[in-house]
Amino acid sequence: MRLSRYFLPVLKETPSEAQIASHRLMLRAGMIQQASAGIYSWLPLGYKVLRRIEQIVHEEQIRAGHIPMLMPTVQSAELWRESGRYDDYGEEMLRISDRHGRDMLYGPTNEELITDIFRSHVRSYRDLPLTLYHIQWKFRDEIRPRFGVMRGREFLMKDGYNFDLTKEDALHAYNRHLVSYLRSYERMGLQAIPMRADGGPIGGDYTHEFLVLADTGESEVFYDSAVTDLSFGDRAIDYDDVEQCQGILEEFTSRYARTDETHDETLFADIPEDRRRSARGIEVGQIFYFGTKYSEPLGATVQGPDGQSTPVHMGSHGIGVSRLLGAIIEANHDDKGIIWPEGVTPFQCGIVNLKQGDAQADAACEDLYAALTGRGLEPLYDDRDERAGAKFASMDLIGLPWRITVGPRGLKAGVVELTSRRTGVSEELSPEVAVARVAEIYA
Ligand code: ATP
Ligand code: MG
Repeated sequence: MRLSRYFLPVLKETPSEAQIASHRLMLRAGMIQQASAGIYSWLPLGYKVLRRIEQIVHEEQIRAGHIPMLMPTVQSAELWRESGRYDDYGEEMLRISDRHGRDMLYGPTNEELITDIFRSHVRSYRDLPLTLYHIQWKFRDEIRPRFGVMRGREFLMKDGYNFDLTKEDALHAYNRHLVSYLRSYERMGLQAIPMRADGGPIGGDYTHEFLVLADTGESEVFYDSAVTDLSFGDRAIDYDDVEQCQGILEEFTSRYARTDETHDETLFADIPEDRRRSARGIEVGQIFYFGTKYSEPLGATVQGPDGQSTPVHMGSHGIGVSRLLGAIIEANHDDKGIIWPEGVTPFQCGIVNLKQGDAQADAACEDLYAALTGRGLEPLYDDRDERAGAKFASMDLIGLPWRITVGPRGLKAGVVELTSRRTGVSEELSPEVAVARVAEIYA
């Protein structure tokens, strides 16, 4: 992409309504624009990152054997009356009526709808296990929408639902979700710690929330600092291997890590004092096993091997896709702007032309652009007729992890400069080597 042809409305001023870094930076970097309280338009740069996060979530869910689909945003109240949640959900549910006066709602979550789909089609235990998921906009009429996309009213969520014959099978599905979530967050450059949590309106007491530690997080958390040493890394995983998945759950959840809702002072006091931590965290996902809570009232049953009809064991599993942008920025920024982890960056590399209009510099930039594109990368070329300082400031603000700077003086010596946004370290390299280096980073 050439910046002169892109739509990147960066702001010079710091917007006064934004209280936390990620919100400020998303506005300043021209990623989002508020449409009304807690509802945002995703401008091209923000949309690009949103799509990258979504893509990682899809890839990791499909790898775990879960099946993508799409359910609507607007739902009929009828199903929610069947489950008893139409009244329970309270004011967070946006209720609408259609032209015939029928009660509708903008889905805050999808347990009812997916259970209805399941009961319409699945009759036998032979069709299990089954896990279906979608990535779809949700609406919750939050009392205090704030912090930009972190607590929106309209937000994008991945929600998945498992259907199993037995509790044991459903707990394996729970473990698959835990593992696939750990992998997803790591690919986004985040450490998200699974913590014992509370069921809330979804229900069920077997649940973990995934938290990214950050001072601006809305949750209060308590943990053994040893949990922060764990990482999934690039180990091989077989999602059909029940023991392996259970082993990973144990590895990541056996140390004390809880949100304030389930915090237990006595257990906490057992942790050696130098490892006891209390901090703030951002909830970026949650997994639940809730047994037959929805399958019983909604009649989602299958015929078991003994010929008896039994309600299926279910769980639901959510990732806050749009909130993740905020969480990633909270964990990766400095005074100058965002520092995207390579896994989610909107463009892999920036190209800054120090002397636009200089024939040699222009040609070298065009060559770099073509070479990077040829390697399957998407560079962002700042080809505007601007001062070098302004170009650097924009690049630092939007946070691309790598920048290649091209100027007449370097070109005389046959070099360009490759700079890491994270460390600020620059190296002078020939254009060919710079391209190879960037390609290797993303290989
Ligand atoms: P919270 O406690 O933050 O209100 P929740 O526990 O009600 O969230 P879940 O039903 O577990 O949310 O939804 C799954 C994920 O969706 C959450 O882990 C979070 O990342 C995201 N999410 C929930 N509410 C919002 C919101 N208002 N804005 C953005 N993302 C949200
Ligand atoms: Mg939650």
